[in-house]
Amino acid sequence: MARSVTINPPKMCQPMGAILAYMGVHGCVPLVHGSQGCSTYPRYNIARHFRESAEVAVSSLAEDAAIYGGAKNLTEAIKNVKSRLNPALIGICTTCMSETIGDDVKLIAKNALVPGDAMKIIPASTPSYVGTHLTGYDNALRTLLETLAAKGEPNNKINIITGVINPGDIREIKNMLRIMNVKSIFLTDISETLDTPIMPGGHKPLLPDGGTLPSEIVDSANSLGTITLCRTAGSAAVYLKNKFNVPAVLDPAPIGVVNTDRFVQNISKLSGAPIPDEIIRERGRLIDSMVDVHHYMFGRKVAIFGDPDIVSAIVRFAAEAGMNPTVAMTATRHKDFAPDIKAVNSEYSVDTQILEGTDLYEFHKVVKTYGAELIVGNSKGKDIADDENVPLVRVGFPVYDRVGVYRYPIIGYNGSIYLLDQMTNAILGHKYDPNKLHQ
Ligand code: SF4
Repeated sequence: MARSVTINPPKMCQPMGAILAYMGVHGCVPLVHGSQGCSTYPRYNIARHFRESAEVAVSSLAEDAAIYGGAKNLTEAIKNVKSRLNPALIGICTTCMSETIGDDVKLIAKNALVPGDAMKIIPASTPSYVGTHLTGYDNALRTLLETLAAKGEPNNKINIITGVINPGDIREIKNMLRIMNVKSIFLTDISETLDTPIMPGGHKPLLPDGGTLPSEIVDSANSLGTITLCRTAGSAAVYLKNKFNVPAVLDPAPIGVVNTDRFVQNISKLSGAPIPDEIIRERGRLIDSMVDVHHYMFGRKVAIFGDPDIVSAIVRFAAEAGMNPTVAMTATRHKDFAPDIKAVNSEYSVDTQILEGTDLYEFHKVVKTYGAELIVGNSKGKDIADDENVPLVRVGFPVYDRVGVYRYPIIGYNGSIYLLDQMTNAILGHKYDPNKLHQ
């Protein structure tokens, strides 16, 4: 019988993703136009996952706003943020309540600025009765570009749209671009803002150092091309292509051999840079790491859940490494998810079950039917892993019952090596019997 209730959904609401996009911009303060809890909940998840505090403002709507509108609260909130933090940008994300009221956020924001104000306001629409954290990220990023990007001189750079990935992943991609000697603009970049170093003297600025400069967002209209690491954040790439003729490459996330090869080739094609020996050696180390663990991992049943780009890329990588991906599940529907998994099924003769737009209750049922010796996903999978007596390798967002996961990449050749080692060690550490490889 069809259920009319969602149980344990591995997704969050749109403002969560919008806040992550805004937090990757230097000098930007996210402002949630909604009730108190709509900012507390994302801040709580940021603190648990990244172990960093986050400056997230809120317009604190209450009952009166439901009747009279939220313009007064939002105007006050903009003034307060400006006087206390003096940011370069305020990134507004709307919520269930402000969207239901029907506040004209663009107009309220425009009226809150005084003539000649250097501060910019980004008014993203992120109602949470549709979409997920991923659509929230996508909407906020596209609104940033729609508001700021402007035609100028060619800059010889490549735009990298990150999507919801970890600081460690961004640093790994930066490292690959450095090796290839390719200049870039990250849209956006949380590698420093949500993994903030404590510098000598203990100085901590009001707003974190790092992040994409607003001037870089302006300049993204003049790049050689845009590559998305997560296609769920691709609408900004499409905007730059349609508005400024910047070529857009929306390919699978660079995890595993084939997908990372595609990423490296895309960088090389767009920039004209050759693929250096150092990158080829990194690739070779990934292949070697797959050979090293093949006798432990061949045929292992693995069930994977999380955000669509990350899940489909890990499914492909698991198949490349000789594993048997039995279940692939995502709560956020995306047009590329099922075709990605079907392609893996046909190329590697596996039979991965595809679950899309559903919850972890459904995932658990299918895992029971098709089996799993290992689960890969965020911390919300812990109870299922415990129930099935299999290990959980924690990837994605949020991971709140382990520390440091955000620091390490699973993207690129090096990140894939780390992911494969984690998966193998999870199997070895759980119930490894050298006399009986498959238990
Ligand atoms: S689902 Fe709606 S009410 Fe709940 S935290 Fe998100 S925006 Fe706020």
